[in-house]
Amino acid sequence: LAGINIVAVEITDRKRDELRIYELMTELKDADRRKDEFLATLAHELRGPLAPLSNMIGAMKLAEGDPELLRQARETMERQLAQMVRLVDDLLDVARITRDKLELRMARVELASVMYQAAETSRPLAQALRHEIVVRPPSEPIYLHADPVRLTQVFSNLLNNACKYTEPDGRVTISAERDGNDALVTVHDTGIGIPADKLESVFEMFSQVDHALDRSQGGLGIGLMLVKRLVELHGGTVRAASEGAGKGSEFTVRLPILVGELPPPPEARGAP
Ligand code: ADP
Repeated sequence: LAGINIVAVEITDRKRDELRIYELMTELKDADRRKDEFLATLAHELRGPLAPLSNMIGAMKLAEGDPELLRQARETMERQLAQMVRLVDDLLDVARITRDKLELRMARVELASVMYQAAETSRPLAQALRHEIVVRPPSEPIYLHADPVRLTQVFSNLLNNACKYTEPDGRVTISAERDGNDALVTVHDTGIGIPADKLESVFEMFSQVDHALDRSQGGLGIGLMLVKRLVELHGGTVRAASEGAGKGSEFTVRLPILVGELPPPPEARGAP
């Protein structure tokens, strides 16, 4: 009987191994397909700004002596260049973060100033799409232990997405409040929304929800993955919420407030 048992166990073990190998192969094939798609998107995204740039060089030659046309051409070139720089910087960050080589320069940071800085960084994109960016700082100053440059990047990535995935003339809001020992920063838009079954996967590398506006605004599907990893490096979390297609989206970042900057517990407040 013991012999039969051993054979039965071996068979189930082998079946389990086969199943696991099959699952791993499917995962690998899927990763391989996403990498191929990513390369195609990357080529497309890097190629994209080059046509307007070369057009503008031609336009500038024709516009000599016309300051208004020259100004417009310069603005377009600056915007396209900024887009390329952002793209390449994001790629470098992905390379650093996946090899654990990204180092934070931590400092005592006032949250509202980072929010305003992020709004400023996203302003050109918002203006190009005629969006209004509203900043609602916390009612009292909140201080964090954070890398100000990276935190600005987190919020401006979320603001850029909010702009990209909202039809023109929309409204994008960044607001903050205290929740116990944490700060909650929310980026809200009035845009196309995210389907419920994609709210978690949007943070995965190369993931893009398949909706019409996506491609018109470009992107590599790495922004939210960077946001998530940067927030986690700060000891925080980020989550997405949306009431569905056409109802807008909301991204909430939770970050610990700097120790020593927390108000005293309630029982100590009234003490002499
Ligand atoms: P991308 O470069 O494509 O913008 P991200 O990693 O920043 O990549 O975002 C991943 C995907 O999540 C986007 O392609 C888009 O489909 C979806 N997404 C992100 N932010 C929003 C938003 N505010 N509203 C609707 N969809 C969004």
